[in-house]
Amino acid sequence: MKMHDTIAAISTPLGEGGIAVIRVSGENSVQAVDRIFKSTTKLSDAQTHTLHYGHIVNAGTKDHIEEVLVSLMRAPRSYTMEDVVEISCHGGIISVKRVLDLLLEQDVRIAEPGEFTKRAFLNGRIDLSQAEAVIDLIRAKSDRAFHIALKQVEGTLSTKIKQLRHELVELMAHIEVNIDYPEHDVEEMTNAFIKNKCVKAMEQIDHLLNSANQGRILREGITTAIVGSPNVGKSSLLNTLAQENRAIVTDIPGTTRDVIEEYVNVGGIPLKLLDTAGIRETSDLVEQIGVERSKDALQQADLILYVVNGAELLHEGELLLIEQLKDRQTIVIVNKQDLPQQVQYDVLESAFSDERMIRMSIAEQQGIADLEKAIAGIFFSGKLESNDLTYVSNVRHIHLLKRAKLSLDEAFQAAEQFVPIDMIQIDIRNAWEQLGEIIGDSVGDSLIDQIFSQFCLGK
Ligand code: GDP
Ligand code: ZN
Repeated sequence: MKMHDTIAAISTPLGEGGIAVIRVSGENSVQAVDRIFKSTTKLSDAQTHTLHYGHIVNAGTKDHIEEVLVSLMRAPRSYTMEDVVEISCHGGIISVKRVLDLLLEQDVRIAEPGEFTKRAFLNGRIDLSQAEAVIDLIRAKSDRAFHIALKQVEGTLSTKIKQLRHELVELMAHIEVNIDYPEHDVEEMTNAFIKNKCVKAMEQIDHLLNSANQGRILREGITTAIVGSPNVGKSSLLNTLAQENRAIVTDIPGTTRDVIEEYVNVGGIPLKLLDTAGIRETSDLVEQIGVERSKDALQQADLILYVVNGAELLHEGELLLIEQLKDRQTIVIVNKQDLPQQVQYDVLESAFSDERMIRMSIAEQQGIADLEKAIAGIFFSGKLESNDLTYVSNVRHIHLLKRAKLSLDEAFQAAEQFVPIDMIQIDIRNAWEQLGEIIGDSVGDSLIDQIFSQFCLGK
């Protein structure tokens, strides 16, 4: 295993946390920490996977800086497969930074974003799709997205890709054997065999690709617009959703800050709400200004939650809007069910199917479960609960799966037309290589750098 220079970073989120962890990894990590750590035992003499209480001291002045717990994980049984030392400090951010500064004087440098995970990959502990899943874990906006990413870290996608590749290798070996026997009936049998194998592999790829859309939704959220006339209950709906399910805000490097996006979690499905600023304001003037913005939001939305007031007749503007919305992914919320109903149900029922029309009393918190069910019904055809699905949620993976499928299709067509078998072999080999790129077999350095630069510090 290859050893690299020694790196360190604060691995816990900065801020008012109870403890902060500094992670150190590399050849020199144990000696470097020993030089600033005072305890009953020296780390260099200690066994692997042990925990040590002591103090961080300034190597020059011998001043005590911080009371710490230090854990030691020697190579290769560590996150990076290198010698790793983790220092848990309980002080605030200032003392943590002082500890890090002391370390950086000991021939240790600050880690780049993602560098720990990159080492785990380069040292062979995880494959590329697992490493990418670590990014997803950090960014996950819902429990479900988190579990999908976790499954990927554990390698369920990798296992499926490896299986597929294994079958393609077998197919290539089979072809190889038969290239030496170009008699006609052997060729015919081989072609039938190839076609059969290609179809099976394409089916498996399709299965993975079908999960991709759901995976994307779970990872990025369903882009949702809440629309409706003034006073129907839009703000109340937003507040109810936001209250029950506090939006998770994560720091994603490289995202623009001026777009305000709010996430709420509805029954495990993250909704990315558009233009919530417009909805939060209740004064009529602001709602006027918001009209243009709302139109934009309507254009962008994957899902429209259209709120009407059940206690009033629909007015002309609403009737027009219904015409526009009936062919979109719209859920109509007929609010204020606690009041006597006036709304023209016949109009709503002719425009929207039963599953798309939810009766609610947001004031009395009625109907929220129905709304959750309706959303799950639209985006997951009711299959949201099947937890054993391997979701493909990464665009790079989706792209490669599609290319591999194309290559297999070409092989199939070629076999159909009795193209010389060594030509067919090339297509199959392409598919095998494209699948390999998903798990990081045969990928270039620049791609690796690009992937790992998306991490935050300390991972
Ligand atoms: P918006 O203008 O569409 O954002 O509507 P708001 O959420 O500001 O609500 C307008 C008014 O309707 C407020 O006074 C709410 O308290 C009231 N309201 C909201 N939902 C309900 C409901 O389910 N029943 C009743 N009776 N009133 C509601
Ligand atoms: Zn409002």
